[in-house]
Amino acid sequence: MKIREIHVYSYKLPVKNGPYRIASSTVYALETTLVKIVADNDLFGWGETCPIGPTYQPQHSKGALAALEEMAPGLIGADPLQPLALRRRMDSLLNGHRYAKAPLDIAAYDILGKQVNMRVADLLGGAVTERVPSYYACGLGEPDEVARIAEERANEGYPRMQFKVGGGRPIEVDIEMVRKVWERVGTRVRLAVDGNRSLTTRDTLRLSRECLDIPFIIEQPCNTIEEIKAIRSQLHHGLYLDENCEDLNTVLRAVGDGICDGFAMKGTRIGGLHAMATFRDICETRSIPHTCDDAWGGDIIAAASTHIGATVHPRLLEGVWIAQPFVEGHYDPENAVKVVDGHISLPTGPGLGVVPDESLFGKPVASFS
Ligand SMILES: [Mg+2]
Repeated sequence: MKIREIHVYSYKLPVKNGPYRIASSTVYALETTLVKIVADNDLFGWGETCPIGPTYQPQHSKGALAALEEMAPGLIGADPLQPLALRRRMDSLLNGHRYAKAPLDIAAYDILGKQVNMRVADLLGGAVTERVPSYYACGLGEPDEVARIAEERANEGYPRMQFKVGGGRPIEVDIEMVRKVWERVGTRVRLAVDGNRSLTTRDTLRLSRECLDIPFIIEQPCNTIEEIKAIRSQLHHGLYLDENCEDLNTVLRAVGDGICDGFAMKGTRIGGLHAMATFRDICETRSIPHTCDDAWGGDIIAAASTHIGATVHPRLLEGVWIAQPFVEGHYDPENAVKVVDGHISLPTGPGLGVVPDESLFGKPVASFS
C-alpha cells in the first residue's frame, strides 16, 4: 500500500466556559491541526495535533503546519501500513518536530487498523480494558472556587484530579487551595498538583513541607530538570515530569537517573502512538505510573490517547486526559470520545474508531499528492 494524498486542515476549537488558565498561558480558543492520509486503495486515516497555545511548550500550531509542509511531499509513496518505516522516513526529512510527525503516525495507525479490521489499541499490544479512567484538570482559580469544583467532579466519578498552581501568585494561595480541596474530597480522588514549570525551588519545597499530611503528587513544578533534581531528595511528595520530557531520550534519562516517580505524558510531544508504545514499555519495566494525554484537541487525538491508555497496565495508568470537557461539539457525534462518570469508553470501530465529518473543517490549508 502507498500513501497517495496527504491533506492538512486547520480548525479552531473555542474553549467552553473559557478561558482556561494555567501558569504559562490563558487560552480562549485553540487552533488544532488535522491530517488526513489517503492510500492508493482509497482507505484513509486521520491524525491530529493541537498544542495548547505557543507558550506551554516549544510546539505551536503554525509550527505544525510548517513542519507538515516540509515533510509531506517526501511521504507520498510511503507505506502507511509500516509505522516504524514511516517514522524513520519522517526523521530523514525533518529533524525533531515530533508533534508534527505525530498526526501522520496516528493517521497511519488508523489506516493500518482499517486495513486489518483491528482497533488501534489492539495493534498497540492489546486493550486491557474497554473503559479507561480519566482525570479532571482544574485551571488556576481561587481556593474556594477550585475546592467547590473538586467536590463536584469527585461526585461525578473522577478517580483523580489535577490542580494548577503557580503562575506568579503567592505560594500561600496555592497551599490554601490544596488544603481546601483536601478538606472537601479527602481520599475519594487521587490528587495531582501541577506547577506547569512556574514554581521556584523555594516555593516547591514550601508546598511540599507545608502540606505534609496531604497525599498528592507534584507535577512539573519547576522549569528545568536541573532545578527539580536539586530539590528532589527534600520533597515529601511524589514527583512527576511533564513538559520537560520532550522525547524518549529525556524519558530514559529521567528513569535512569531516578529523577521522577511518574510522568504526565502527551503523545504528540514524543511523536505519536509508536513512541507512546515504547514509552509505555519503558515505564512498565520500572513500574512507573503515567498518564496518556494530549495537550488539547478534538475527537481524533482523544481517540488516540484512549487507545494507548487502554493498553497500559491498570496499576500504572494514572488516567487519560482529553480536552472534551472544555470543547463544544464533536467531529463524529456517533462515535464521540467523551468523559462519562470520570471514565472514557474505548471506541469500538476499526482503526481509531472515529470518522470525522470533514465538512466541519472547511477546505484543506495544504494538500499533497
Ligand atoms: Mg502537566
